[in-house]
Amino acid sequence: MRLYNTLTRSLEELPPSPGPIRMYFCGPTVYQRAHIGNARPFVVGMWLRSWLRSRGYDAKLVHNITDVNDKIYDAAPGASAELAARATQWYLEDVRDLGLGDADAYPQATQFVPQIVSFIERLVASGHAYSVDGDVYFRVGSIPDYGRLSRQRVDQMEEEEEANALKEAPQDFALWKATKPGEDTSWDAPWGRGRPGWHIECSVMAEEELGPEFEIHGGGLDLVFPHHENELAQSSALGHGFARIWTHNGMLQFGGEKMSKSLGNDRSIRNVLDTWGREVVLLFFLSAHWRKPVDFTDETLAQAKAQWQSFGQAIYEARPARPTVGWEDFEAALDDDFNTPEALAVLHEWRRASELDLLNRGLGVFGLDFVLTPPPDEVRELARERDRARAERAWARSDELRDRILELGWIVQDGPEGSTLVPR
Ligand SMILES: [Zn+2]
Repeated sequence: MRLYNTLTRSLEELPPSPGPIRMYFCGPTVYQRAHIGNARPFVVGMWLRSWLRSRGYDAKLVHNITDVNDKIYDAAPGASAELAARATQWYLEDVRDLGLGDADAYPQATQFVPQIVSFIERLVASGHAYSVDGDVYFRVGSIPDYGRLSRQRVDQMEEEEEANALKEAPQDFALWKATKPGEDTSWDAPWGRGRPGWHIECSVMAEEELGPEFEIHGGGLDLVFPHHENELAQSSALGHGFARIWTHNGMLQFGGEKMSKSLGNDRSIRNVLDTWGREVVLLFFLSAHWRKPVDFTDETLAQAKAQWQSFGQAIYEARPARPTVGWEDFEAALDDDFNTPEALAVLHEWRRASELDLLNRGLGVFGLDFVLTPPPDEVRELARERDRARAERAWARSDELRDRILELGWIVQDGPEGSTLVPR
């Protein structure tokens, strides 16, 4: 199996199964109900894990939660820890309702402060970081290849958001931030009371959970710089291999529309799930390649809904056909950079051919098994007989067969692609 690696800008082969494949996908900062955009890295990570496991890999997914941050302080002055704890539970409830199961671990930044402090101490001791007035900054100039993930030259980079005249260089970024007035969570450290910076959290949690070198690091494309560039700098400064393959998912686009009719202004995972249902949300994500941006509109969701319904109606097709594609085609699509639109095309081919076993097996990879029971052979046979009667315009016979099918608990529906059977 191969995946596109942002670091090398090329497709790279995964090690042979059973691996292991250890994955770290950046999760949200928790201060409100998470936005639907936050669901994409979770979904991609969980699907990848599901697919890798079905291919015999020992795959593990770690998905972190940033529970200390400026946004949280601003959203709940004086009670930021309580809000972060509540919003962590909201996020877990929301992603669990996608029906894909749980990541192997959901580390939270505030649970790793001693490890973060010790990591920063090692960076200071080795000359890669320095403290100024209670803050600690990473010395970007100490890493000759800084910028290799985002392919930027240091002199063309924007200044890190915390401007501080005492920094040695504008690109130096904060590892530890001294507590400011109004910030109600802080920890003791050799440099004074404060809290960790965002980037160092992920270097530490990834390495604590997966070791100093692991196979895949994922997250939204918006995280390449500065977040992931800085994670890579911090870990490689200590000589750690860190992630071998960097996978960045495309962003959700909202088409410039001010609000969605179905959702109003609330594009939280919760509201989208409540409005459209988890199957539609998953079909929506399936229809786009994980690396590409995807338009999130009422129209694209309605298309996803129609697709999901079409799978539900695949129980019986009047024109059973030999599928032109088999399981190996489904495998080939996913093994080649996890191409879900191509896999989806294979699923539709199975739907048209009434290949229910393959269809259910394929949908199951994405958490989408439909639990409808296929009709018994007797009912299928009656439906075929009815199709023949209709073709011969023997309407009385056709009606008689329809009633008989109904008695057996099935409704026969005639559509443009032939008749289908749905449970009564
Ligand atoms: Zn991160």
